[in-house]
Amino acid sequence: SSDVSSSDLPAAAAQGYKADATKVDVKKYPKYAAGQTCANCALYQGKAGAASGPCALFPGKDVTAKGWCQAYAKKA
Ligand code: SF4
Repeated sequence: SSDVSSSDLPAAAAQGYKADATKVDVKKYPKYAAGQTCANCALYQGKAGAASGPCALFPGKDVTAKGWCQAYAKKA
């Protein structure tokens, strides 16, 4: 499936999704902490080591392993 981009997916934009977590606006999203990425988020369904994979939040789209959004929840 194709990658999420904030421009073509309003839901992703609403969640503050960035394909590169280091580009997150920490003033707007103060809950962001360095090291948080889709790859270690509980909602991420990509394979270990893959550059991108599905996210439960955005059906039919892939998010990048190094991405982030405000729905981030640390994988148990
Ligand atoms: Fe990434 Fe988790 Fe947000 Fe999905 S919910 S985009 S896996 S941080």
